Amino acid sequence: MKIIRFRQLKRAIRFTKSEEDFIALIPKNYNDAWDGSLADLKKNGTLKRGAVGIRDNIKSAIKKRLKTIQGNNCIYCGLHFKIVGTSQREHIADKANYPEFVFERYNIALACSYCNGFDKKGVINTINKHDYDYSKCEFNIIHPYFDNIDDHIDFLFTNTKVVIKPKIDSITKAQSIKAVNTISMFELAGSVQSLLRGSLYKAKKINSTLSNSAQRRAELITSGNHIS
Ligand SMILES: [Zn+2]
Repeated sequence: MKIIRFRQLKRAIRFTKSEEDFIALIPKNYNDAWDGSLADLKKNGTLKRGAVGIRDNIKSAIKKRLKTIQGNNCIYCGLHFKIVGTSQREHIADKANYPEFVFERYNIALACSYCNGFDKKGVINTINKHDYDYSKCEFNIIHPYFDNIDDHIDFLFTNTKVVIKPKIDSITKAQSIKAVNTISMFELAGSVQSLLRGSLYKAKKINSTLSNSAQRRAELITSGNHIS
């Protein structure tokens, strides 16, 4: 078990043929595909009785498969779900504005209840440039599947916290805008997760599982060159 893990997801979940066939029946612009009763789709004959059960089984399967892919770590704060509580399915492009992507494999990841908190949703539109082909969309945040997180974030070690901060480009000195947006949207620099990381770091439970850059910084601290 990795207590903290920051890593770009290299693969998305796969659907079975019957799951794919079911998803294909749902119109792309249908608003209640994820949570609704599907009543009108049953009424007009698009879906049969029992459709809600099939949809809910697909949602459960998505969660189970994502847990394996993500190693039970939150996609945004990197902390293990045993530490930050329940895992929730997070739509990177939100369900309300982008119903066409609710079952898009690359649009779903698991986040913890802190990062996926109700009050944080919808604050930032995560899509900068929309295309009905998901792979052609441009995103404002660090995309768990399309972006290498190490290109965007860095860690600041204090006496009590390990804080996530935007990476500064060594040449332009500009900070990653995607990181700024991601940190703001999910409050990744917030005290809860930062203190949790800090106490885990102090207990020497995370220094071997952070990214290479963080490890180098951790070594700097251990050797006496304290940062901040
Ligand atoms: Zn989280």
